[in-house]
Amino acid sequence: MMKDMTNHGSECTPNTSIKCTVDNCAYHCQEKQYCGLNAISVGTHESNPTESKCVDCESFKLK
Ligand code: SF4
Repeated sequence: MMKDMTNHGSECTPNTSIKCTVDNCAYHCQEKQYCGLNAISVGTHESNPTESKCVDCESFKLK
């Protein structure tokens, strides 16, 4: 059976290598400001990214 990686009231194991403050994400560990995934995908929505706000977590999933 696949482990439910989302955080709908179930446990979330914080990945201390991935800090995150996006409470709205299903993978966010609500108690700690960390992501619960083992790895994430980061990308950009711009053709010439120049600052941090130009890049995105592409693993984001609305909870
Ligand atoms: S998937 Fe991305 S946005 Fe969601 S908790 Fe992890 S790092 Fe944050």
